Amino acid sequence: MNEELGEIKDAAIFIRGNVIEWVGKTSELPAGLADSAERVIEGRGHVFMPGMVNTHAHMFQALNRCMAQDQTLHGWLKTLYPIWANHTGDSVYVSTLVSIAELILSGCTTSSDHLYIYPNDVKLDDTIRAARALGFRFHPVRGGMSAGVSKGGIAPDSVVEAEAAILEDMERCIRDFHDNSKLSMLRMSLGPASQKTVTNDLMVSSARLARKHEGVRLHTHLAENQEDIEYTHRLYGYRFGDYIKKVEWDQSDCWFAHCCMLNESERALFAERGIGVAHCPSSNTRLASGIAPIRQMLDQGVNVGLGVDGACSNDCQNLLAEARLAVLLQRAGGNPKQLGVRECLRMATVGGATNLGRADVLGQIAPGFAADLIGYKTAGNLAFAGTGADPLAALLLVQPSAGYVNWSIIDGHVVVREGVLMAASPDGAPSRDADQVAAELRAGEGVPFDMEWLLAQADKYCYELTATAR
Ligand SMILES: [Zn+2]
Repeated sequence: MNEELGEIKDAAIFIRGNVIEWVGKTSELPAGLADSAERVIEGRGHVFMPGMVNTHAHMFQALNRCMAQDQTLHGWLKTLYPIWANHTGDSVYVSTLVSIAELILSGCTTSSDHLYIYPNDVKLDDTIRAARALGFRFHPVRGGMSAGVSKGGIAPDSVVEAEAAILEDMERCIRDFHDNSKLSMLRMSLGPASQKTVTNDLMVSSARLARKHEGVRLHTHLAENQEDIEYTHRLYGYRFGDYIKKVEWDQSDCWFAHCCMLNESERALFAERGIGVAHCPSSNTRLASGIAPIRQMLDQGVNVGLGVDGACSNDCQNLLAEARLAVLLQRAGGNPKQLGVRECLRMATVGGATNLGRADVLGQIAPGFAADLIGYKTAGNLAFAGTGADPLAALLLVQPSAGYVNWSIIDGHVVVREGVLMAASPDGAPSRDADQVAAELRAGEGVPFDMEWLLAQADKYCYELTATAR
């Protein structure tokens, strides 16, 4: 994904600590570097690419998949809100572990996560705990809903918060967790859930709060479907472009999910201001929201990244599968050149990194970039049989048969070793000395993540969340 380096056959990558120091042909690897390597990972028969960057997710939804199968967004939300209202800090922690495990194994090394519902004792901290347990680069979004049904919104009054409380907690999360260093493992964003669930005041206040802190960004849903157009028009008499200007979400520190319904002048505004889009094709088709005009966005100069969206409006959290669907959907209208495979892999990496304000260190395998990369074993894998003409394109085109990554390295740590997810702590709980664990992972020791424990927890909470909602 580095324009100068391009794609390299028989490549070697040299990582020092958490940074890529050198990449090129193995035959050209400087002898001094080769001799100094403490650890060598054999990559023969693999395709390595930059770890992908997922820019829209709701990880709290992973325990309630495959529900409300034949609903549009509104009906789907109405079915699920009462179930999510039963979430606790522990169930959100388990749900987030499930999501991150699935994202890592399918090739993501960084993700944003939009948590917009805070029932019972749920805190953003529960998702951060999960990201740290798996050594995942994380951009959590402190969301929130304030306008319940009684205020003309769509969420039950029981799951909304007071706007002052939302803002106060946003400030606490920035103070406690936001790290704006170059290779940061965690940066905060703020994101009231959508224009249908908060007031314009909260949108404005959260934008102003974010801009007091360098590196804190703004993210939410926008222009998802036809109902959104009608809602915005009915309430304000205008469209999305006017709305984001009015609430001060019209700057380059904003990126929006979906944007299926952006018109030409709105796309031009996005391009002019450097506002990003998180394209979520599975969710948009599952909920019959529409097909986002990605070709037009790219042609007009809008940055587009990809997103898996909520685990239960997609039902699977695999960004390469999103990339494949994005390519196919853009072509479905009759033009095979509408979106290219490499163009879409770029959206999954560089496009995502740009949405998160991390294009300087994420999304490329190049000197000075973060040591975040994934390796698919293509040799000896039936899914890749006959793909020798273009092994890189095969990663996208043979999804979903490609299976999981064989290697994933995040921040210089091996988090997937020969297909096995490793843990920053054995049971997913941050109980061990973090520095010691990091040293072990770097040295290739580490411990396999206890997947059996996680699956049992997921079953338990899946049952509990739905049982008490009946
Ligand atoms: Zn969403």
